[in-house]
Amino acid sequence: MTTPRSTSRFDAARRLRNYSYAILNISELARRCEASGRPVTHLNIGDPALYGFHPPEELTRACIAAFEKNAHSYTASCGILPAREAIAREAASRSMKTAPDDVIVTAGATEAADLLCTAMLNPGDEVLCPSPGYPLYAALIGRQEATCVSYRLDPANRWLPDPQEIERLITRRTRLLVVINPNNPTGSLCPPDLLAAIADIAERHNIVCLADEVYRKLVYSQTHHPLASFAGNDLCVVTLESLSKNYMAAGWRTGWMTITNSRLVPDIRAALQKLADARVCAPAAPQYAIPAALSLGNDYLAPVMEKLRERRDLTVRMVNAIEGLSCSTPEAAFYVMAKADPAVHRFASDEEFIVELLRKKQILCVHGSGFGTDPSEGYFRIVYLPDTATLERVYADLSDFLQHCR
Ligand code: PLP
Repeated sequence: MTTPRSTSRFDAARRLRNYSYAILNISELARRCEASGRPVTHLNIGDPALYGFHPPEELTRACIAAFEKNAHSYTASCGILPAREAIAREAASRSMKTAPDDVIVTAGATEAADLLCTAMLNPGDEVLCPSPGYPLYAALIGRQEATCVSYRLDPANRWLPDPQEIERLITRRTRLLVVINPNNPTGSLCPPDLLAAIADIAERHNIVCLADEVYRKLVYSQTHHPLASFAGNDLCVVTLESLSKNYMAAGWRTGWMTITNSRLVPDIRAALQKLADARVCAPAAPQYAIPAALSLGNDYLAPVMEKLRERRDLTVRMVNAIEGLSCSTPEAAFYVMAKADPAVHRFASDEEFIVELLRKKQILCVHGSGFGTDPSEGYFRIVYLPDTATLERVYADLSDFLQHCR
C-alpha cells in the first residue's frame, strides 16, 4: 500500500512515500467494518495480551514497585544499570559476549531497530533481509534511502534461508544482514548449523548482523540458539529482544539491543549513543521489570506454550483440511503463513483475497505481500493466538468463504 499523493499545500516527506506497515495499515479497513456494526475477528496483530495472555506477575509487581518508589524521572539514556547488568549477565549465560555498556534499553525492539538503521545506513547502502519477513525492516531501510535486498526463505524447506544465496547477494554496498529468528510471519526457527554458516559469511564479508530474537522463548520443541553465540572475534552482532512477546507485555514498550564485539564498530557505537541521548530514554518504570523477567527461568512459559501448541496444532490441522489451503507446521511464535492456491479462487492478488475475506466473513488476516511474498502466490498470515473455539469458528468460515469464491 503506497501513500496517496497529497493535494495539500504541505507535502509529507518524500522518503515516506513507500513507508508502510501492512499489519496495521490493513486494520483501517476493519475499523470501517466495525463502524458499520459488524464485529471483526482480528488475526492480524501479534499482541498476546489481547487474547488472555498476561505478563508474569513478577514483572507487574516490579513495575508497580518502581512507580511506588517514584520511578517518574528520565533514566540514563541507555537504560538503568540493573537492567543492563541483568541483560548482559543473561546473554553471557547463553554464550553471547557482551557487557552492560554494550546494552541499550529501548522503547521495544522497534526502537532498537530504528536506532541501529539510523546509526548505520547511508543512501544507497544495501541491507539483506529475509523474505517473507517482518515489514518494519523494509520500512526503516527505505526511510534511510538505503536498499532492502531480499533473501528467500524457502517454504519447501521449513521456510529456512539458503546461506549460499545470502552470500551471492552480497555486494560492496552491503552493510547489514538482518536475521529474524524465530521468524515472523513464518514461525520458522534456524538450526545451529545454519546460524553458524550465516555468522561465518557475515564475518568473512565484514558485515554487521542484526539478530531479531524477540520470539526466542516461544519455541515448541527445538532449542533457540542466539546468532551472537556463533560470532567469532571479528563479527559484530546486534541482538534485539523485548518484553513484548517473550513476556507478553507488548504495551509496555520495553526492549533492548545487545552488541557483541562492539570494539569492531566504535563509530556506530558512538552514533547509537548520540541517537539514544537525543530521544532521552525508554519508559522508566518497566525497565525495573527487566531484571525480574531475566531471572524468572522458564516455568511461567509452560502453560503459555501448552495453549499455543494446542492452537497451532488445531490451526495446522484445520487449514490443511480446507480444499485449496495449506500451511506447514511453525516451530515457534504464534503465526502461520497459509497459502490459498491461486488455482482454486478468483482473486488476482493476496491483498484482494484478504479484503474480501474481511468483507464477507469479518476475519482480518494480513496478505503475504505485506511481508514480501509475491502478491500472486496467495500467501497470508494467520495469528493463532485466540482460543480454540474462536479459531474453530474462523476456520469453518474460511472454508465456507473459499467454497464460494471460485
Ligand atoms: N521484531 C519482530 C520480528 C516482530 O514481530 C515485532 C513485533 O511484532 C517486533 C520486532 C517489534 O517488537 P516490539 O514490540 O518489541 O517493538
